[in-house]
Amino acid sequence: MSLYLSTKPFYFQLLRPLKTSQGILESKSGFLIQIQDDNAHIGWGEVAPIEKSELKICESILKEIGNSPTRNQLEKDIGSWPGTLGFGIGAALAELDCLIGSQSTQEWLPSPKSAILLPTDKSPIETLMPILKSNKNQQQKLTFKWKVGNYSNEIEKKLIHDILVILPNECRLRLDVNGGWQRAQAMDWVNNLYLEPKIEWIEQPLPANDIAGLQELSKKMPIALDESLLSTPSLRGTWDSWQIRRPTLEGDPRLLLKTMHKDSRYIAISTSFETGIGLRWVNHFAGLQAKGATPTAPGMAPGWCPVDNLFSANPKLVWKAA
Ligand SMILES: [Mg+2]
Repeated sequence: MSLYLSTKPFYFQLLRPLKTSQGILESKSGFLIQIQDDNAHIGWGEVAPIEKSELKICESILKEIGNSPTRNQLEKDIGSWPGTLGFGIGAALAELDCLIGSQSTQEWLPSPKSAILLPTDKSPIETLMPILKSNKNQQQKLTFKWKVGNYSNEIEKKLIHDILVILPNECRLRLDVNGGWQRAQAMDWVNNLYLEPKIEWIEQPLPANDIAGLQELSKKMPIALDESLLSTPSLRGTWDSWQIRRPTLEGDPRLLLKTMHKDSRYIAISTSFETGIGLRWVNHFAGLQAKGATPTAPGMAPGWCPVDNLFSANPKLVWKAA
């Protein structure tokens, strides 16, 4: 059976820049993927790395693959590509095979309510106050995520204290350090927070490669890995505290699908800011997570992407809008 592969570049700007201890993310760019078979069935994917250097590598591999790849060649090579290209091609093949989607017994699931990502370009307290005020009567269990590393350590220690004072008992807070602390600083924060039930976890407190340091911290409180799982994928099989899984960055989504059908405990799903094509997968994984034994709010960063057809759940509209 012949396959026909087309690509189309896309670009969008986030509605506000995302500042982390590792840099500023203001926009996303990449390629939409369309794979068609002899019967005119279509599968869709997207390839959109955070790192510009990875995009260049993906672009040159896509050129090599060309417009009429063989199925065998794609399946043989997919594991050796950068994760984002593995996602794009694997997603399209999964849909082509009716493993997922409207033609499949496994329909796309919607995402449950997301954690709220606090903006990094203003004080977290300023953002929290009106949200908590309007939630006062409903008393919904809200989850917030705050990225540290944007102010000095002293200011952030004062801010976390202030946040915990105003945060109701039923709400939760995740701290994302993006690998920005050193061991002594991380242990100091852990010693201050490990008895605090409103803290759900600290995410990637140490650099991605400091696995021994991360293990030490996780003896005291839940430590979620994010960047470490991308640089050392074998940790996905061994880290038994929380794992932040970003489906569109980590590779062939058919593997994550298999994993999550078997056991989705302590997996938390996170967006990497996708178009509507990638977002269907992130929503689906978040929906699967919610049905598992340890449901927790996914990190979908609501309100950070524009609202237009590039983010539609209909891949044809996404393709046209790119
Ligand atoms: Mg993170």
